[in-house]
Amino acid sequence: MSLKERLSLRKFYLFAVVLMLLAGPMSHSMAQKPKAVQSLRVKVLSTMLTGGNAGIGEWGFAALIEVDGHQILFDTGARPETVLQNVRELNIDLANVKDVILSHNHGDHTTGLLTLRREFMKKNPAALSRVHVGKGIFWSRPAGNNEGNYVVKIKSEYEATGGTFIEYNEPKEILPGVWLTGPVPRVHAERNWSGSGRMKSPDGLVEDNLPEDISLVAVTDKGLVVVSGCGHAGIINTLEHARKKVQNTNVYAALGGFHLFALNDEKLDWTASKLKEFGLQQFLGAHCTGIEAVYRLRQQTGLDRQSCVVGAVGASFDLSKGIDPTVLAK
Ligand SMILES: [Zn+2]
Ligand SMILES: [Zn+2]
Repeated sequence: MSLKERLSLRKFYLFAVVLMLLAGPMSHSMAQKPKAVQSLRVKVLSTMLTGGNAGIGEWGFAALIEVDGHQILFDTGARPETVLQNVRELNIDLANVKDVILSHNHGDHTTGLLTLRREFMKKNPAALSRVHVGKGIFWSRPAGNNEGNYVVKIKSEYEATGGTFIEYNEPKEILPGVWLTGPVPRVHAERNWSGSGRMKSPDGLVEDNLPEDISLVAVTDKGLVVVSGCGHAGIINTLEHARKKVQNTNVYAALGGFHLFALNDEKLDWTASKLKEFGLQQFLGAHCTGIEAVYRLRQQTGLDRQSCVVGAVGASFDLSKGIDPTVLAK
């Protein structure tokens, strides 16, 4: 082989190696692209306001998520009977809903669980029999001499009905295109919790920052849709975590409770600028999001009264149709 031939052979090998290096990460990312859900509907079952003649309001949150033929109950309301009463009035049957997500331990999201399980298991033993939670939800929250953590208090009672808990310490795809965030790193100091609570963590008695707070993330062709219960991890921390761990894309919709009610305008404007940066197009702010906060975010993000709405009982979001705010917020 002449020197010239050997050189051109070397060039060929180099070219082949470069091609392989380029093709490697491309085919990898294509294989990694998460599945997108086709149909998605979220209906509010517990929040402060009622949207029409059906249902009662409370300081709490619950929503029914219907995704590609599956139903999931996200949180269970503040009072034992509220969600049961509201689904009856809204003509919704939870007997075929097996899965429940509890966003965190607070009673305004968890107190309906036992009532609902007991009622709907009469019709279907599997109804509301599987509860998905984030790590830390079972850590004790001492309140004087009592247990302040409602989930700890009812755990054995719930399990005695045949129900089980599944605990997550990291993001997990629970259905094709449907993820739970797992505990969310607190990158930004959003500090959306009271600060007065204490919890018995493995490191001892420390400030309760609701480490178990989880949200649901659906991957859609329009971008991510995120459902939050009380937002203790921070809306921006949660959305950034979803974009990092589920799919690095725009956030199409944020729905539920985001604990923004007590924020000053400066913090709300920072939140709005981040939401704008993420490409947010639909916002249903229920529960602890706060009414003033929803209006401020609407103004600062450039959304309008159809796309940035105060959530009421009976209000819904549909991936293809957008938000139906009920008559209250027409
Ligand atoms: Zn809470
Ligand atoms: Zn709450």
